Amino acid sequence: MKLALHWKILIGMVFGLVFGFVMKNLEMKGIVVDWIKPFGTIFINLLKMIAVPLIVVSLIVGLSDLKDISKLSKLGGRTVVLYLVTTVTAVSIGLVLANLIKPGEYINDESRKSLLENFAGDAAKKIELAASAKNQGPLQPLVDVVPENFFLAMTDNASMLKVILFVILIGIGLILIDENKAKPVVDFFKGLNEVILKIIDIIMLFSPIGVFALMAALMVEIPDFSTLNALGIYALTVVLGLIIMTFVIYPTMLIVLAKYSPVKFFRAIAPAQLLAFSTSSSAATLPVTMERVIENVGVDEEVASFVLPLGATVNMDGTSLYQAVAAIFIAQAMGIPLDLQTQLMIIVTATLASIGSAAVPSAGMVMLVIVLGQAGIPEAGLALIFAIDRPLDMCRTVVNVTSDAVVSTVVAKSVGKLNPINTEV
Ligand code: ASP
Repeated sequence: MKLALHWKILIGMVFGLVFGFVMKNLEMKGIVVDWIKPFGTIFINLLKMIAVPLIVVSLIVGLSDLKDISKLSKLGGRTVVLYLVTTVTAVSIGLVLANLIKPGEYINDESRKSLLENFAGDAAKKIELAASAKNQGPLQPLVDVVPENFFLAMTDNASMLKVILFVILIGIGLILIDENKAKPVVDFFKGLNEVILKIIDIIMLFSPIGVFALMAALMVEIPDFSTLNALGIYALTVVLGLIIMTFVIYPTMLIVLAKYSPVKFFRAIAPAQLLAFSTSSSAATLPVTMERVIENVGVDEEVASFVLPLGATVNMDGTSLYQAVAAIFIAQAMGIPLDLQTQLMIIVTATLASIGSAAVPSAGMVMLVIVLGQAGIPEAGLALIFAIDRPLDMCRTVVNVTSDAVVSTVVAKSVGKLNPINTEV
């Protein structure tokens, strides 16, 4: 019997966790770090390696298929609105949960002191990283989208928006020029697109081993569980919010807006979700998200190639929800009252901060510094949540990726580009 890919990945993850746990207890961390972890790094690098070529080629192919500029603006408009709506919904859910559960009140003086002391250094590093983002003018994000040099932008995975902008211009150019002149260019990219999708298949053959290595390394490297006890309620609050997004909000969107069965949807994108969990990076997961959404969900390539790369960079529901809960938690734990106005401001800042977060591990925590600063919460409070950030990063990245896939499905349905792969509810 041939095992489905998500089962293979899941088995790799479980074995990795168990193996890491055993090695940690046998005091053999070094072996895992030296001999196992590199395979995880190789796997992530392979995925990142293919991400930029995939975005460039599939976006060119997708846009040239649109044949009409007005279709592009329709697609763009719907995508941006849905991304904003889902993010604001996520932040609001986070705020409500944090106010109801009050996770900050469960942390006693002793654990607060020890966390603040133990993680002060780590927190200072993140605060420093956030400083450069903070010192820029209000229009800087707009300036950042326009590349000075396209090839330079292509060499930097963090410059995905710049690449997208330039490629959209190529796509528009191809739509506007004479069809006979455009055809050879489009045909070339169509062929290249097939090659890249094949490469992703090949990389994914390696995925069970890759996630095994990632999980084993994670297990030996995360801080001791004993420091995590005090943070349990906080972590549960974040996870509860993420569960509500995943199992209530997204299925509702799928059923109501796309007439798509959530069960089939989750089955189709499960490998992408598992990879998001193992890598904590929406950018590294993007190639697999695109492949699954196109081939298994049935979203047309011209929609997926536009909506998904954009989403990986700007749409982070999990991150924004986490930022809201974390901000309230830190304020509660440090005894800082937050009035309604400040809380409403958090909706705006967490939405913007999640848009600004890069799609890489722990980026959401760096941008949280900005949310804290705006709300008048001491940034040093970051030390309180440091110990548990990695596992939460894994969970929020799953939601970030799921949200992109859901929005692409809804947008595809709305423009008649959802292909039937047994999709009816
Ligand atoms: N790791 C997240 C992602 O790549 C971003 C974050 O919240 O840190 O989607």
